[in-house]
Parts: sequence; structure tokens; C-alpha cells
Amino acid sequence: MTDKAQISRHMLIICGPSGTGKSTLIQHLLAHRNTCCLSRSTTTRAPRGSEQNGVEYDFVDVDTFKARIDADEFAEYANVFGNYYGTPHEMIRSTVEEKGLDVLFDIDVQGARTLRGKYPGVWCVLIAPPSMEVLEKRLRSRATDAPDVIERRLNTARHELAQTDLFDFTIVNDDLDTACSQICALYDVLRLRSL
Ligand code: 5GP
Repeated sequence: MTDKAQISRHMLIICGPSGTGKSTLIQHLLAHRNTCCLSRSTTTRAPRGSEQNGVEYDFVDVDTFKARIDADEFAEYANVFGNYYGTPHEMIRSTVEEKGLDVLFDIDVQGARTLRGKYPGVWCVLIAPPSMEVLEKRLRSRATDAPDVIERRLNTARHELAQTDLFDFTIVNDDLDTACSQICALYDVLRLRSL
């Protein structure tokens, strides 16, 4: 088995539109399983608030980032609102091989597709709302976003939920306790697969 195929058995991509409770489920998994951690990206955006280099992100300048693209150091990268963000191969390798941890990826469907292209065999789970109507209701009741932002999130959600070929598993977050149990159960199966 190649290195990347071996490493991919220690990776779990978690996709899902905003409003599905994806972040809550990821935090639940991290709090209840000490053999996994969240992927740490490299970015060209400036640190915000109390963010520290090497903790939330690795912060670099644009020239450094571009040189790393040219050196093929990223498993995937994107330009989001004018800033570059990328997932370094070396971060994945060292987390799995040196720290002995599994890596969770909280990325969009485009990034997930690219990552899967580089690490064939990686599992990808979709966190889905019970229905588009429920998702819309949740987004509107948060009252944190303007109507046009909510509309954009709903369109993105429709696009993401339609990418059915990408997802190996779907967790429908209807009841939070059930969804928390399911993400832990899925991770436990991933651990058995890794042996
Ligand atoms: P923020 O600047 O708010 O931390 O993140 C902005 C956006 O960049 C979010 O949508 C986040 O998901 C995305 N992002 C963060 N890291 C990566 C990465 O490594 N790759 C890609 N493709 N997007 C990322």
C-alpha cells in the first residue's frame, strides 16, 4: 500500500452546510475521542483576535504561500475572499505518522473533492439537515445573517447536498444527541479500519 493510501485511513472529511450543526458535532467528537485532532491549514490572512501562529492556522505571507503552491506542498488550496488557505501534505503526514493521531477535515465540497483526489480512499461524511425547510428555518431563526446572506447559504447548501457521489456516509442531524452518537460511532469504525 502507498504512503498516501495508508495515511488516508487516518483521515475523515466532514462536510455540511452551515446550519446543520457540523461544528457542534466536530467539537463533540474532539471532546470524546483523544486520538483525533482537527487539520491545521496554512493561510495568508492576518491573525484575528487571540489567534496564534501554529495554533488556529500557520500564518504566512503571499510570496511564501505561492512558493509552496509551486513546490506542490498543498493537498488542496483555495482563495477565499482574497486570502489563500491550504492544507499541507506535511501537516497531514506528521500528524498521522509522528503524533499518531487521526485528522479531521472541516472543508467545503470542492476542497473535499481535491483532497480525495490526492488521498484516494479517504472517507467523507455529510452532515445533513432533516430537510431544506428545516435548514431554512434554522438559518432564519439564528437571526445573525442578513436575508441575502441566508439566501446564499441556502443555495450553497443545495449545491453541497447534491454532491451525493462524494459522500460515503450521511448523518442527518435531526436529534443532536443521536447525531453526536453517530459521529462517534463512525469515527470508531474508522479506527477499526486503520488497524
Ligand atoms: P476564516 O478566515 O474565517 O478562518 O476561514 C474562511 C474560510 O476559509 C472558511 O470558509 C474556511 O472553511 C475556509 N478554509 C479554511 N482553511 C481552509 C483550507 O485549508 N482549504 C480550503 N479550501 N478552505 C479553507
